[in-house]
Amino acid sequence: MYRVRDEVMISASHQIPMPDGSLEPMHGHNWRIVVHVEAPELDPCGLVADFNELRAALTRSVDDFDHQHLNEVPPFDGIPSTAENLARVVFERLAKSLDDRRRRVFAVDVWMTDTGCARWEPR
Ligand SMILES: [Zn+2]
Repeated sequence: MYRVRDEVMISASHQIPMPDGSLEPMHGHNWRIVVHVEAPELDPCGLVADFNELRAALTRSVDDFDHQHLNEVPPFDGIPSTAENLARVVFERLAKSLDDRRRRVFAVDVWMTDTGCARWEPR
């Protein structure tokens, strides 16, 4: 299996619900969002995916979140704006635009800090 990845950075604030029902104080992160794509065979150019296409799809998938307060942007006006949920939302957007018969998005990672990362993958 061939695997490639690309990443973008966005800046956004958020507030996660606390166990007592209140929201944590508003704060921001520079979120590093990584898409992983795999394919058992390469395209005629010898690629899993053109990196320009990957970067464009990734940028499109996070554009409405960049420089925003995530809690006010759908779908995070209805679900907690956690790295876990952001990874799933971005995965679903990317799978729609990048998956075809040969290749598929297999995971999206969302790094909130240099050491903390959430991943969503469909298994
Ligand atoms: Zn945070």
